[in-house]
Amino acid sequence: MRKRVFSGVQPSGNLHIGNYLGALKNWVEIQGDYESIWGIVDLHAVTVYQDPAELRSKIIETAALFLAVGLDPKQSSIVAQSSVHGHAELAWMLTCVTPVGWLERMTQFKAKAQAQETVGDGLLQYPVLMAADILIYQAAIVPVGEDQAQHLELTRDIAQRFNSLYGETFVMPGTHLPAVGARIMGLDEPDKKMSKSATGTGHAIGLLDPIDQVRKKIMRATTDSQPAVDYGALGAGVENLLNIFQAFSGWTKEQMQQHFSGMRYGDLKKQVAEMVVTSLEPLQRRYREIKNDPGYVDRVLKQGAEHVSPIADSTVKLAKQRMGLYAEA
Ligand code: ATP
Ligand code: MG
Repeated sequence: MRKRVFSGVQPSGNLHIGNYLGALKNWVEIQGDYESIWGIVDLHAVTVYQDPAELRSKIIETAALFLAVGLDPKQSSIVAQSSVHGHAELAWMLTCVTPVGWLERMTQFKAKAQAQETVGDGLLQYPVLMAADILIYQAAIVPVGEDQAQHLELTRDIAQRFNSLYGETFVMPGTHLPAVGARIMGLDEPDKKMSKSATGTGHAIGLLDPIDQVRKKIMRATTDSQPAVDYGALGAGVENLLNIFQAFSGWTKEQMQQHFSGMRYGDLKKQVAEMVVTSLEPLQRRYREIKNDPGYVDRVLKQGAEHVSPIADSTVKLAKQRMGLYAEA
C-alpha cells in the first residue's frame, strides 16, 4: 500500500508566495508518489474571528488555488476539513491526552494570542486539531513550512502518548520541509515570517496580486544600508529576496552566488520581480479558468470528501475502541 501524505492551508486570507514555496509547490511535486490528501482547514481558520461570508468565499478561492498551482484531483483528494466530521471528533479524544503545558509553550499560540484582545480556547487547541487532521488519515509524511515543524513534533508527542496509554493506534508522521523556501519572510519586516494574517500592505505577495503590485512590493522591500549583495554579510531582507529567487528558479547555491555577488540592490530587486511575475502569471491564468467553470470546485471538494471519509471514519472507530468509548461493532 502507498504511504499517505496530508497537509493543509487555512482559508484565513490571501494565500501568498510563502504558502506556495513552503507548502503547495512541494505538494504538487510529491502528489503522485503517495496517497495524497490536501485540506482547506476551515476549522483552523475560525480559531480567530472570520467574517462568515468572507470565509465561505475564501474556502472556494483556496480550493481553486490548489487546482491552479497544479494539484490534480485525479491524483489527490482535495477536501474541506469541516466536511469530514471525524476531524473535530478525534481532536476531542486527543485533547484528553494532551497536557495544557505542551500547548502553552507553542510559539504560534504565544504570537497569535498576543495579537488578540480576548483569546479563544480554539487558539490554544489549534495544534491538537492539527494532530487530529494528520493522525486521522494515518499520514506518514506531512509537507509544511518551517513554522509548523513545532506543531508536528507535538503531533508525534500526542500520538506517542495515545499509543502508550491505549495501545498502537496511530502511524507516526514525519516532517517534510523544502530545502529552499521553508521560511519566507515579510518583505516589509524581514525578521517576521510572511503571514496571511499580517496587515501591512507591503508585507506579503499574494498569489492573486495584480502583476504591477507584485513588482511594486518587491521594489519597495526592506533591505539594509549596504549598496550591493555581499554573500559574506547578508542582511535579512536581501537574504529573503535571494531565497525567493532561488526557490522559484530552482538554481543551486553556486549559481546564485556567481550571478548575484556584488549586484546592486536595485538590479537584484528587478530580477527577483521578473522571476516572481513569470511564475505567477500562468498560475493566475489557470485560476481564472477554474473560477469560470461554475460548480467545478464544489464537485472536486465533494469528491474529495467522499474519498477520504471512510479513512477518517475507520480511524475514529479504532480510537474509540481503544479508549473504551461506545463504538458500534
Ligand atoms: P495565518 O497567518 O493565517 O496563520 P499563514 O500564512 O501562516 O496564515 P497557514 O495557513 O497557517 O498560512 O499555513 C499554510 C502552510 O504554509 C503551512 O504549511 C505553513 O508552514 C506554510 N507557510 C506559512 N507561512 C510560510 C512562510 N512565510 N514561509 C514558508 N512557508 C509558510
Ligand atoms: Mg499560519
